[in-house]
Amino acid sequence: SARVGVLALQGDVREHLAVLTALGADARPVRRPQELAAVEGLVLPGGESSVIDKLARAFGMQQPIREAIAAGMPMYGTCAGLILLADRIDGAIEGQQTFGGLDARVARNVFGSQTASFETDLDVPTLGDPPVHAVFIRAPAVTEWGPDAEPLASLPDGRVVAIEQGALLGTAFHPESTGETRFHARFLDRVRNRRGADVVAS
Ligand code: GLN
Repeated sequence: SARVGVLALQGDVREHLAVLTALGADARPVRRPQELAAVEGLVLPGGESSVIDKLARAFGMQQPIREAIAAGMPMYGTCAGLILLADRIDGAIEGQQTFGGLDARVARNVFGSQTASFETDLDVPTLGDPPVHAVFIRAPAVTEWGPDAEPLASLPDGRVVAIEQGALLGTAFHPESTGETRFHARFLDRVRNRRGADVVAS
C-alpha cells in the first residue's frame, strides 16, 4: 500500500490519517526530515498556516519539504495546507512563508466574518457525481493561477476553491471532516502512479 505522511506540526492531522488509512494507505504522522524521507506522498492539513510555517522552519522541515516538492513528491493540502503550497499569498502575517510549488496566488481568510464558516455542495467535474459536500472554515481562495495550474472547482461567485498542478493538489475546504474520500483517493493514485514509474525505471 502507499506509504504516505501527514505533516503533524499543527492542525487536523488525525482526520487525514483516518481517511488515508480507511483508503488502505500506510499513513503516518511526519514531523522530522527522516520521517519525510520515508514516505512517498505528504498531506498538509488544515489548521493555521502561519503556525505550521513557523513550526516547519523550527523543526528544519521547510527545506526538505521544498526539495520533496521540487522532486515531484505528490502532496495534498487542505485549507491551511493549500496556503502552504501556494507560491504567493495575500493576507499573510508578517514574515509568513510558504513551501510553494503551486503557481498560484491564495488569499487567506477571504470569506468575511459572517461567512467565516459555511458548507455548500460543490460541483467538481473531475470527480463527477455526486457533488462534493464542502465545509469551509476561515477558508482561503485561489485568486490567480499560472498556465500549468488547473482549477478543479469554483464557488458560484467564481472564486476557485480546488486546484491542481502536476503532483500538487489543494482544496480550500476540508474533505477529511465530511467523509469525502475522492480527493485523498486522487492523491493516493498519484503516489502509486509515481511509484510505478520509478519501479519501471529501476
Ligand atoms: N485561516 C487559516 C489559515 O490562514 C486556514 C483555516 C483552516 O485551515 N481551516 O491558515
